This record gives sequence, structure tokens and C-alpha cells, in this order.
Amino acid sequence: MEEQTLKVQKIRNGIVIDHIPCGMALKVLKILNINGDIGSTVSLVMHVKSRMGCKDVVKIEDRFLDEREIDKIALIAPTATVNVIENYKVVNKHKVELPDEIVGIVKCMNPRCITNQREPVVSEFKVISKNPVILKCKYCEREMGVEDIIENIL
Ligand SMILES: [Zn+2]
Repeated sequence: MEEQTLKVQKIRNGIVIDHIPCGMALKVLKILNINGDIGSTVSLVMHVKSRMGCKDVVKIEDRFLDEREIDKIALIAPTATVNVIENYKVVNKHKVELPDEIVGIVKCMNPRCITNQREPVVSEFKVISKNPVILKCKYCEREMGVEDIIENIL
């Protein structure tokens, strides 16, 4: 499995997000707000054959993730593993974990929801399915699938 990850050049410091579901790597970059303007080197490998079928891998140099960003990744890539690299070595490796509740990370897609009013309430969703991910708004009960989540991530 390690050989597969090494298809891209090793990085000195940064993160490797491995086991992203096939085809989702660009969406992961999008929700992390990583675009052409950042100073760090980003490597992307899509459709890597793996034991589980197929995966995408993203490597980002000189960038680390906070908990909120890891929760965002869990929403769209629940199988992902985050490896933290320091001096070419993996110093921390953990699977992302989708919490049972998502607070303040996704905007409810129902414009009439209380969380979208002039004095907005922080959005809160219950995770009613983890694979595929389906969220249900605690206030208006609107359900949102992965595509809706990507469009409405805060
Ligand atoms: Zn709602």
C-alpha cells in the first residue's frame, strides 16, 4: 500500500490525505480552499488502484489541517486517512471520523430554515447515514446528500 502512495514525490513537511474515494480529490481541495493562489506545492493522484478498489491521494506541502477542516474532509471523504509529515517522516496518521452531529460547518439548503434568517442560528445537522453521507437539519428536517453538502460547506 505504501508503494502506491509513493507514486508522487515525497514531501518534507505537510500532509498526505490518502484513501480519498475515487474522483473526490478535487472536491477535497475545493473545501480546503486550495486553489492556484496558495504558495505550497500540491500533488494530486487520482484513480490509484488499491486493495479497496480505487482511491485518490492528495499531498500538500507546508500546510496542516485544523479539526474543522478534518470534519469537512470526513463529510465528503469518510474513508480518508490524514498523514502528517515532518522531515519526510509520517509523525501522525489517523482516519478521519465523521461525528454524529455537524455544527456550523454546512449551511442548510432550505432558504426558509431558521438558520438562514436575518439573525441566523448556527446550523446543526444530525448525521443520519455515514456512507453515503446524509445530513438532516435539526431545525427544518431538510436532508442533504454529498453534492448538496459540497455546495453548502461554510
Ligand atoms: Zn434547515
